[in-house]
Amino acid sequence: MIIAAKLPDGRQPETMRFLANIAISLIDWIPFPDPSFLHDQFPQAGCPDFFTIYACCSRLTLLPPSFKLKRLAAYQLQPMADSIHVKLPDGSVKEVPKGTTALDIAKSIGARLAEAALAAKTNGDLIDLTRPLEKDTDLRILTDRDPEALEVYRHSSAHLLAAAVLELFPETKLGHGPPTDSGFFYDFYRPTPFGPEDLEKIEKKMQELVQQNIPYAREFLPRDQGLAEFKKEGDFMKCHFIEQFTKPDEKISIYRTGKFTDFCRGPHIPSTGKIKAFKLLNIAGAYWLGDEKNPQLQRIYGTSFFSKKDLDDYLLKIEESKKRDHRVLGQQLDLFSIQELAGPGLIFWHPKGGVIRKEMEDWMRSEYLKRGYSLVYTPHVARRQLWQTSGHEGYYSQNMFDVMELDDAEYRMKPMNCPFHILIYKDSLKSYRDLPVRLGELGTVYRYERSGVMHGLLRVRGFTQDDAHIFCTPEQIENEILGCIDFALEVLKDFGFDQFQTDLSTWDPKDRKNFLGTEEQWELGNRSLENALKRRNIEYKVIPGEAAFYGPKIDMKVVDAIGRPWQLCTIQFDFNLPQRFGLEYVAEDGSRKQPLMVHRALYGSVERFFGVLIEHYAGAFPVWLSPIQAVMIPISERHAEYAQKVADQLKAAGVRVHVDARNEKMNAKIREHAMQKVPFLLVMGDKETEAGRVNVRTRGKEKTEDMPVTEFVEKIKALIAEKKPTV
Ligand SMILES: [Zn+2]
Ligand SMILES: [Zn+2]
Repeated sequence: MIIAAKLPDGRQPETMRFLANIAISLIDWIPFPDPSFLHDQFPQAGCPDFFTIYACCSRLTLLPPSFKLKRLAAYQLQPMADSIHVKLPDGSVKEVPKGTTALDIAKSIGARLAEAALAAKTNGDLIDLTRPLEKDTDLRILTDRDPEALEVYRHSSAHLLAAAVLELFPETKLGHGPPTDSGFFYDFYRPTPFGPEDLEKIEKKMQELVQQNIPYAREFLPRDQGLAEFKKEGDFMKCHFIEQFTKPDEKISIYRTGKFTDFCRGPHIPSTGKIKAFKLLNIAGAYWLGDEKNPQLQRIYGTSFFSKKDLDDYLLKIEESKKRDHRVLGQQLDLFSIQELAGPGLIFWHPKGGVIRKEMEDWMRSEYLKRGYSLVYTPHVARRQLWQTSGHEGYYSQNMFDVMELDDAEYRMKPMNCPFHILIYKDSLKSYRDLPVRLGELGTVYRYERSGVMHGLLRVRGFTQDDAHIFCTPEQIENEILGCIDFALEVLKDFGFDQFQTDLSTWDPKDRKNFLGTEEQWELGNRSLENALKRRNIEYKVIPGEAAFYGPKIDMKVVDAIGRPWQLCTIQFDFNLPQRFGLEYVAEDGSRKQPLMVHRALYGSVERFFGVLIEHYAGAFPVWLSPIQAVMIPISERHAEYAQKVADQLKAAGVRVHVDARNEKMNAKIREHAMQKVPFLLVMGDKETEAGRVNVRTRGKEKTEDMPVTEFVEKIKALIAEKKPTV
């Protein structure tokens, strides 16, 4: 094509582009257009030589270049006033008439692209393929290779669900139906609850609508007309959304798919036929607007993928996740419980869970000391005044337990450890020589979560953070951050995670009012976080505007054994608290300066980390973390003494053992301990007793091994010392 070709005499490149654009549009329709046809289609072209256009679009490449250029240059065509420039990802720019759609452009690139196209992205916004482009823009055509298209595809799947529900149950009223990280849902109001058999019916109906390939058609309606339309159907939730999110006299955007009309900003894929693989997963209750006084809605969850294979993989992962559910394993392996009498979100660590917790705490405390942190311990409650000074009383109050009135003052439970560590820092005047000060604690905090949202160990009301605060000078900060990152990497390595994702959340300089601190502070913060990540060759994603209002931060998500990400480690700057508490140090020149402050938690919370560990290992903990590392199983009573002797030897070597001398069948005992996922079962009969050996059954292995006791002791000692993730 001849777009932007320069004429030999340098004249009229606009004309060239204009002709080429016509050519592009035409070739798309009809390979050899008739000149009169052209005339009808393009009267706005003024008085071009239609032969030229004809030549240009039909046989362009066949004409000698000199001929083309001469002919084109001979006419003073007016470049179209209403044209726009569209920049494509490969850097090329197309000049097209205003109102051209992304689909038009996809077609001009190729029929295959047009067929594969699902949505488009212009200047950062996702749009429908059929939305007319009104001004200069960059443009990306999204297909099933773009993760961003999945969001649009799933939102469209939610519409498909709603359309199917309306076909089958026309009395249903509709709430909203957004895409989620792993699929989509739609909220419905219907007095009769949907049952599992309804899900099947709905799924079948969705399949039919896919076959019918119904377009997602956008319309703009006057607000009053839209409201009237939804009111007539009794769609009280849609009316609420329109009133909430639009102003009188505005036009409202709606999408129609079969019988279903949604008040919706979109974008959507072109038609239902593009949806290749979906599945409805479950139904849950939800209150309209999250308020228990409102009618209860039924939320149908589903998911969709670009291919059947992706869907199957995902469904398999859900099955696998269910098997790993830490709440189920926590009970089966007797690790922890939540007691109704005590209240939700409060964790009781049972003896076996307690062993793992002790290992986690010991690991953390010894690393604190190794890395130059000081260990501190602080109270669980403090006067309300402290929370007023820290600002928690203002911006965090709704997450705090309520006020307790005592004889001297009002108190509140601590939701965070920071103010306490600050009080320790402040207790004596610091000089630059004292910095950095690193105060570390395993500090238990209490946060108010609504009673419905608690979830096992992952979302609780009381938890212990491996919390530390670093106070340092600007010169020290980069090395301090580097130290935090190395510390985090050590956590991941020792606890057996080899994959992680890192986000760097920074401020949005255009939105300054929502971020505290000076430009210099933010720059220093961003720079030191970024440099430290670079120095460790860690890949990271910058997320502008996602920082906390008080400073930029690094978040690290570990990826577990079945590929799920979990947010654990966080390293955050704080420009706010040092100011609120008037923190100082005496600088080298004798002046008083404000130290920089960094919060960091690497497990996040001990409870949550434990939950993630349970799911990551599916309860089969590495030897060093296993509550019981080896069980002795004497075959009969007369081998019990020998079993005890072996156990004592192991205990002396620091191994956690149990002797199962019950009068039960050997196989029953083996089965029972294998269910408890004990790494090693040592079976002992006459042969072993006489030879000073043990028969070792290793978790997950079919074959048993026979070895001298001393060899087993050395083997297990090494596994524990190396923190090997598997046996
Ligand atoms: Zn929608
Ligand atoms: Zn903190």
